Amino acid sequence: MKFTLVTVAGFATVANAFSNSAFMGKTSITQAAKSTSQLDMKYKVAVVGGGPSGACAAEIFAQEKGIETVMFERKLDNAKPCGGAIPLCMVGEFKIPETVVDRKVRRMNLVSPNGVEVDIGSTLQADEYIGMCRREIMDKYLRDRAIEYGAECIQALVTNIDVPADHKTNDKSRYTISYSEFKEGSAAGVPGSMEVDLIIGADGANSRVAKAMDAGQYNFAIAFQERIKISDEKMAFYEEMAEMYVGDDVSPDFYGWVFPKYDHVGVGTGTVVNRPAIKQYQKAIRDRAGDKIAGGKIIKVEAHPIPEHYRPRRIQGRMCLVGDAAGYVTKCSGEGIYFAAKSGRMAAEEIVKLMEGGTRLPTQEDMEKTYLAKYDKAYGPTYAVLDILQKVFYSNNGAREAFVELCNSKYVQQVTFDSYLYKRVQGNNPLDDLKLLGETIGCLIKGYANAKPDAVFSNPVESQKRL
Ligand SMILES: Cc1cc2nc3c(=O)[nH]c(=O)nc-3n(C[C@H](O)[C@H](O)[C@H](O)COP(=O)(O)OP(=O)(O)OC[C@H]3O[C@@H](n4cnc5c(N)ncnc54)[C@H](O)[C@@H]3O)c2cc1C
Repeated sequence: MKFTLVTVAGFATVANAFSNSAFMGKTSITQAAKSTSQLDMKYKVAVVGGGPSGACAAEIFAQEKGIETVMFERKLDNAKPCGGAIPLCMVGEFKIPETVVDRKVRRMNLVSPNGVEVDIGSTLQADEYIGMCRREIMDKYLRDRAIEYGAECIQALVTNIDVPADHKTNDKSRYTISYSEFKEGSAAGVPGSMEVDLIIGADGANSRVAKAMDAGQYNFAIAFQERIKISDEKMAFYEEMAEMYVGDDVSPDFYGWVFPKYDHVGVGTGTVVNRPAIKQYQKAIRDRAGDKIAGGKIIKVEAHPIPEHYRPRRIQGRMCLVGDAAGYVTKCSGEGIYFAAKSGRMAAEEIVKLMEGGTRLPTQEDMEKTYLAKYDKAYGPTYAVLDILQKVFYSNNGAREAFVELCNSKYVQQVTFDSYLYKRVQGNNPLDDLKLLGETIGCLIKGYANAKPDAVFSNPVESQKRL
């Protein structure tokens, strides 16, 4: 039986009637009614989006018997445009099988605007690597696992969410989700609607849940990627190798990449400050990779926004954002898969605890004090540091030359890999830190002296919009 407003109101009326009546003391009927209602009723949680954040949230809710979990995914074979790089800790923490990881990258070739190349990776242990995945494979695996745990998955586009005016104060008010369900042979889809008690917005950068709850805007990068099938001989170079190119030709504020996948490479770039020129930057990254991808066949072209920072509001009433919908992508690296999975799992774990076996609904304040506080404490400093690094090292060619030179340092490589692979900074040495500061200043001076000046572009609208 579904937990409807009518049944809640009905039981509340019955309970009130008895508590105010001459039957006070003879509580057995009230208790019987209550316990029957608790057995029958289940609060319904809707997870909108079946990417890493949604799937990892849904699998936690689904394991709680007192909660009914529904996951909406508009396209079950969705291939999210993405480089697909994941840190080693995600493989263990989220029990991702090796079959989901296409390539284990153990070396990174970092290329400066002047073409100086630095080979990164010698500090890695034999069992350490960056995982390279195809999102259509990884997302399906995570989603299927949530379904195995008991989540109901509906292949449908959520088109509207009706938010009741009293949703922050009345835990009996429910959200109405309207959707268009995929049906074989029907181009338009079949319309449907559902009432739910709590919504997890895991629907990515163009989140409809964020819009419905008035979460506010964030600035975003546009990222572009071509999947290019290259010959086996050329693919051999990328066996365990990924490449990162920096320079104003490939991006005025980000980097271009060549990431190896199962039988092809993903070649891409991104920018916030000059989005209209994205195709020009994409051509430049293809040119910079040059002979290494020459003769390759473009098998897929994809583009998608990447959020630059958190949404102004991540929870409203019983609507809660995770992953890209919340804005959890780091600057500098553009990493978001791990943070999506982690935030989905963390939000769900905290909410399940607050729901006490499905006997109550959490308030906005409950969720802010648990999920948000915990997430911000764990990852706030990471976002802040990477934001500063991006501002210092990606803003002009002089700084980019300095960045590449600094990455020659084994100490920098060690600290960078430790923080990326394990999401923690370990083994820092104050003396080395001091030496590093000196080296940074030296590299910046040298970089500025030797760098080619950045090309001037005029895009005041987007440059100034940057927050
Ligand atoms: C080109 C590019 C390269 C990137 N490279 C990397 C990388 O190498 N490593 C990394 O860590 N991060 C990378 N990122 C970032 C990463 O892709 C995201 O941070 C991550 O996918 C966020 O996961 P998510 O589950 O929050 O959202 P998404 O992965 O966007 O998933 C949202 C899901 O919701 C579904 N959906 C959306 N709207 C609706 C709706 N109305 N109804 C029903 N379903 C809906 C979508 O179909 C999708 O499956 C890259 C991003 C881009 C664009």
